[in-house]
Amino acid sequence: MVAGFELREISKKGEGIFATKSFMIGDIVMIGVIEKRLNGNHSHASQIGKNEYVLHAGMIAKVNHSCSPNCGISVNETGAHDYVTIKSISIGEEITFDYAMRNYSIDCFPDKCICGSIECRGKITGWRELSNEKKKVYEGFVAPYLLELDAASYLHKM
Ligand SMILES: [Zn+2]
Repeated sequence: MVAGFELREISKKGEGIFATKSFMIGDIVMIGVIEKRLNGNHSHASQIGKNEYVLHAGMIAKVNHSCSPNCGISVNETGAHDYVTIKSISIGEEITFDYAMRNYSIDCFPDKCICGSIECRGKITGWRELSNEKKKVYEGFVAPYLLELDAASYLHKM
């Protein structure tokens, strides 16, 4: 199978992952493989549980954030995050996801977002800060533990 993506340099953002073929909605763009488990959060960590952080192998850790992403997260049988298209992707387009689909809060990134999307929230935020409208749009494409944390915090407020 041809990978369908490659790493490219981008001015200002450093580097990113770009599609080398087109993808339809629902396609798996990148298959997640857990490289190692981490003791805590860091800038390339993926949060997969309330207090569980892992490093994904390969280029998946290089996918940039966008406030209007073309990919979401689907947990595969190894517990790793596959990246699945939520919008069709053309050849040459950057592959993006929203960090809020993965992290409940953002600890390791500069506040200001430079995704350039018209829906840009202005700063990179976690699931905790996401609007209910946006949570609905992302439904089915976020790390499941985020929903458990939402449910737990809702119960605390009652
Ligand atoms: Zn943004």
